[in-house]
Amino acid sequence: MTAKDNVHPHEIHKFGSMAERWWDPEGEFKTLHDINPLRLQFIQQYAAVAGQRIVDVGCGGGILTEGLARLGAEAMGIDLSEDLIDIADLHGLETGVSADYQKISAEDLAEQQAGSFDHVTCMEMLEHVPDPGAIIAACAKMVKPGGKVFFSTLNRKPKAYLLAILAAEHVLQMLPKGTHEYKTFIKPSELCQSARSVGLELEGMVGIEYNPFNKHFSLGKDIDVNYIAAFKRAE
Ligand code: SAH
Repeated sequence: MTAKDNVHPHEIHKFGSMAERWWDPEGEFKTLHDINPLRLQFIQQYAAVAGQRIVDVGCGGGILTEGLARLGAEAMGIDLSEDLIDIADLHGLETGVSADYQKISAEDLAEQQAGSFDHVTCMEMLEHVPDPGAIIAACAKMVKPGGKVFFSTLNRKPKAYLLAILAAEHVLQMLPKGTHEYKTFIKPSELCQSARSVGLELEGMVGIEYNPFNKHFSLGKDIDVNYIAAFKRAE
């Protein structure tokens, strides 16, 4: 499979069609806004951010990328949705928080800039591509030896189907219907196996838990639904 093939055009269209609402904290992407401080907190437990060159793969409208830039990173965000790259750029202009947004595939950037990023982030994206292993390999190729790579995704467990699809999309309507497809979810063991095969060693993993009673997200031990992990590229 070539890099060009490692994309579901319907996924790019699905996210791109909601681009103008990306930054509405109460809109379709409220969940990404709500979990963003937790992601930044997790990343900072494993990596320095200020002054570091960090690429955010599958950046969407730039919620995490801008957060990293705000913390002083020299941030780059890549996505295959032109509409989302435009929104990310525009939002950066509005807030004055600058990041370099580019429409390029992970595989192509890895080819062009191998080993040139201090750290790499790739959040809520692996479950939307045909071959997540190729994205994991590209992330491993982009990062410098000793650098950190962060992934978050959804676990292929019945509990994740109940909570992330049935409850979140259909009952609580926290996410647009059709955002996720169960069979694309990735077990932590599969993520770790793919990562290990390209020289990424697991450093830590926690769950991103949701409490429906107080509507708060927190980091915790339950990795059955949504989880985030830190890996280190061998020196
Ligand atoms: N990482 C962001 C956005 C997650 S939504 C965040 O967590 O805040 C998933 C994103 O993955 C969308 O922006 C979508 O356009 C992007 N995406 C899907 N397939 C992709 C691919 N093959 N290459 C790059 N980006 C992709």
